[in-house]
Amino acid sequence: MKHAWSRLVKLFLHFWFPRTCFACGRDLKWNATAPLCPACEAALAVPGPLICRRCGAVLKSGGAHCYACRGSQARQYKCRIIRSAFVFNPSSRALVHALKYARADYLARYMGTLMERQFAQYPELAEADILVPVPLFPKRGRKRGYNQSELLARQLSRQIGLPANATALARVRNTVSQTTLGRQGRLQNMSGAFAVVRPHEVRGKTVLLIDDVATTGATLEGCAQALAAAGAKKVLAYTFARE
Ligand SMILES: [Zn+2]
Ligand SMILES: [Zn+2]
Repeated sequence: MKHAWSRLVKLFLHFWFPRTCFACGRDLKWNATAPLCPACEAALAVPGPLICRRCGAVLKSGGAHCYACRGSQARQYKCRIIRSAFVFNPSSRALVHALKYARADYLARYMGTLMERQFAQYPELAEADILVPVPLFPKRGRKRGYNQSELLARQLSRQIGLPANATALARVRNTVSQTTLGRQGRLQNMSGAFAVVRPHEVRGKTVLLIDDVATTGATLEGCAQALAAAGAKKVLAYTFARE
């Protein structure tokens, strides 16, 4: 009986407030559970199989590492491995943008569940002890009302059973927009932007950083530097999408 009522309520809501696919704008079916239409959901694509072993960037011409991680360069990074559930394409981009600007809870549940489904394909992340979302600068967090990476980490935490810690790491400097900066500029911009405020919560642990998107990995590297300096054993990262 309860089930029949909830179907009726859904049908009613669909009639008055039809939902549309976040990526293509087509109407969703009244009983759709995903925020994407079936075609756009099917277009979500996993990176690989050819990805950089360190940073997870998709490699066009094979090899083990991308140009930036080749040779001794890979060792300079405190963030040892970056992996992502999906490549950045119109479907994943639509979800990331929508998560940042609207409908946070509903989307975070959906996106975190997708991250959990892809997680098993990366055994190199299995040694993680805790999940730490990339923090926002407090002023930005207050404006948005939530940290989208924290919502993803909490959902993933519920599903894979690792604790999420959103208080150990903080963003202590508001950084300039990264879009006009090159790779080195981005790394410098993020260096010193984060600090561990509760070192005992990360000391000796393998930390899995969680973020919505990885572009050059500079933000993740800024976090990893702070975590390593505070005594984390190892820092890995997992994001929803990879640009
Ligand atoms: Zn669609
Ligand atoms: Zn790389």
